[in-house]
Amino acid sequence: MDSSTATATRGLTSAEAAARLAGDGPNTVSAPAPRPLVARVGRQLADPLIALLLVAAVVTALLDDLPDTAVILLVVTVNTLIGVVQEVRADRAIAALDQLAAPTARVVRDGADQILPAARLVRGDLVRLEAGDIVPADLDLADGQRASFDESALTGESVPVHRRAGDEAGAGTVLTSGRATGLVVRTGAASSLGRISALVARTRPGPTPLQQRLAALGRVLGGTAVAVSAVVFALGVLAGEPVARMAITAVSLVVAAVPESLPAVVTLALALGARRMARTRAIPRRLHAVETLGSVTVIASDKTGTLTQNRMSVQQAVTADGTRYTVSGTGYSPDGEVRRDGEPVPATDDLRDLARAGLLCNDAELIAPAGDRTDWTAAGDPMEAALVTLAARCRLDPASERTRVPRLAEHPFDQATRRMTTVHALSDGAFLVVSKGAPESLLDAGPDSMLLDAAAELATDGLRVLAISAATVPTLPDPADPPALRVMGLVGIGDPLRDTARDTAAAFEAAGVRLVLITGDHPATAAAIGAQLGILAPGDPVARGDLGPLTADDIDRARVYARIQPEQKLDIIAELQRRGDVVAMTGDGVNDAPALRRADIGVAMGGGTEVARQAAELVLVDDNLGTVATAIGEGRRIYDNIRRFLRYALSGGIAELLVMLAGPFLGMPLPLLPGQLLWVNLLTHGIPGVAMGAEPAEAGVLRRRPRSPQESVLGDGLLRSVLLGGLCVAAVVLAAGVTAHQLDRPWQSVMFVVLGLAQLGVALAVRATPGPGTKRNWSLLGAVAASAVLQIAGVLLAPLQSLLGTESLTLAELSACAAVSLVPGAALRLTTLWSVRRPADT
Ligand code: ADP
Ligand code: MG
Repeated sequence: MDSSTATATRGLTSAEAAARLAGDGPNTVSAPAPRPLVARVGRQLADPLIALLLVAAVVTALLDDLPDTAVILLVVTVNTLIGVVQEVRADRAIAALDQLAAPTARVVRDGADQILPAARLVRGDLVRLEAGDIVPADLDLADGQRASFDESALTGESVPVHRRAGDEAGAGTVLTSGRATGLVVRTGAASSLGRISALVARTRPGPTPLQQRLAALGRVLGGTAVAVSAVVFALGVLAGEPVARMAITAVSLVVAAVPESLPAVVTLALALGARRMARTRAIPRRLHAVETLGSVTVIASDKTGTLTQNRMSVQQAVTADGTRYTVSGTGYSPDGEVRRDGEPVPATDDLRDLARAGLLCNDAELIAPAGDRTDWTAAGDPMEAALVTLAARCRLDPASERTRVPRLAEHPFDQATRRMTTVHALSDGAFLVVSKGAPESLLDAGPDSMLLDAAAELATDGLRVLAISAATVPTLPDPADPPALRVMGLVGIGDPLRDTARDTAAAFEAAGVRLVLITGDHPATAAAIGAQLGILAPGDPVARGDLGPLTADDIDRARVYARIQPEQKLDIIAELQRRGDVVAMTGDGVNDAPALRRADIGVAMGGGTEVARQAAELVLVDDNLGTVATAIGEGRRIYDNIRRFLRYALSGGIAELLVMLAGPFLGMPLPLLPGQLLWVNLLTHGIPGVAMGAEPAEAGVLRRRPRSPQESVLGDGLLRSVLLGGLCVAAVVLAAGVTAHQLDRPWQSVMFVVLGLAQLGVALAVRATPGPGTKRNWSLLGAVAASAVLQIAGVLLAPLQSLLGTESLTLAELSACAAVSLVPGAALRLTTLWSVRRPADT
């Protein structure tokens, strides 16, 4: 039934497809199951700090110290809640990204071609494949002429294999050249890919390098906090405090000093940042990408499409005798004019022969205006579409020319030989062979030197140059190894830069990111585009891939690379990485996938091949390189915010340790009670910390150099600033405590209030200085305000007083506390304003 003729041409009906989808389930290879809530809560409770607190809760309960038990349990509950909520939010954001970057498939349903998420394929669906597609399910090929598949995903064997009608194409293999259609025979876990995946258990993506480094930092901090707390414990016991109470205090101090919300803050900042990037049409496919983007130092771009409009048109044509024509017209519209020496002329026979050959050795199609579309568009390679347009402008009818000499065989364009060949049947029984390709691939230096010079001249104008040759032969030739051909001429094809391309180049420049151009094009074309972009000055070298291996010196100096083969991109990346660069590289073809994987950030085009998209870390929906600059800004913002949180949370932790350590020497054996420490910790680290991830970007975020990938998260002055901040807060707290002590006022409550408020002041001080017109991060301001209210409530409300062991302060005292609490924040803010960090122009 599935292979009935109706299904074979019209595909399934949508009703039938829906029924099968409901029956068989989606065409996905089992994704890791979402983590159940209990498991999430369990993971939070398994945190060593929390485990320690739970033990402390049991101990306090046994000692009948119920207020402390209550505070400890409150802290555990709130921490777990924040942790679980952040994790769920982060998972949701990541799942949403997975959806956006999910593979798609071209399917015929109800007689019409559609692009659907591959997950919705069902048995019996008619799928169309083009070069660069990943086979979305096991297919029974209905038409597979010239189709070759890379089956390395299933077999490990990377030599492409030919498959024809009747063969099966397994899910997960890649159509590397040709075209194919096939009927889906197995989907999801039943497919060949599903059977393999069942063996290789699917795992969650591991932590990012930054998450790993922060985890390591967390362990160092934890160790430090434990050591300091041990000293505090010893001092207290020596001063005659009860051992149990000192033990609880020490535990609370460890908990308070370590920023336990750090992992949650980082994951959430990365996940929400990824979502914001997706909104600017740059979809990160992994969280790694978000943080790596912030440190990109080189962006290697292919010009076609990312910097150009990818709307090509033949502007110049040169026939075999050297006559030059210019061709005008807009877009792909057949209306246009041919001129010679500036005068409109009818197309000569030579020119028409050249145009006809370009039309035959060609897979593109023009699409006439229809509906609300008023301009002509193209399907297929835009460069080939430009050749169809040229034929139309030479008054040839593309459809009838193509049917008159039907194609029998072809050798598709291949980046290694840079040519494409087709073989056609002539009405008299002979065969026509047509090749088109890079001039050096088709022309001979001796006899064709005049045309080679003309090609170089066209290239200097920034045009892509194609040579076209043809011959009539009596016997069917092999398109992969064509006979000697006669040169018909050259075409120069223009692909205008996007309006924004120069600004994009300038934006990377300002951000300290080196933009380099890597292309398969002619060196003169590449140099002309480089000059138009403003990245190549007259006399600057252009590295060439066709003159032997690239040297480290080439790679050191070149901003423009021409005649590069996809494999050479790997060498370029390797050399740049060896020099310490963090490389983002664009690509869209089948052959680009290895380079996309090797680069630190592989950037694929939404309009490129599925293989490239799945190999990439970042997918540009609108194919515009300018979007990468925005994404780099976003990556830097997130990194800044993580450092912002560290600056705030670590200085607070250090202040707490210092206060507890110094208190006994200033006549205050136990400066703060365990419950008070935990309360301060809850109000400072919890909500304001998480809200910090939403801080906007600094005004100059894209006008400074990228951070060095070797730099520690605490580098570039952050450690010093943390220590100074901690010292400053501790000094103010101790000064307030000593003063209250001497005035015989409730000094402990004073220190409690000042410690909390001073940290909140620091939270305000480390806020970003965004550019004008940026929305304020109200969540941080709100969180700080709420925490401040709860902090003061801790000494004013009777129930909280008995819970925390605090005493009432007068309004005057509270005002004095608030005033001194502003000092550390104000000092920090001033030093931030003074120190201009990493300006791009030094
Ligand atoms: P790019 O990196 O600019 O995309 P390509 O590798 O696609 O470069 O193309 C390199 C050269 O190969 C082009 O300048 C052109 O001369 C030739 N070429 C590109 N596409 C085709 C094609 N479809 N048929 C024949 N020749 C082509
Ligand atoms: Mg190309």
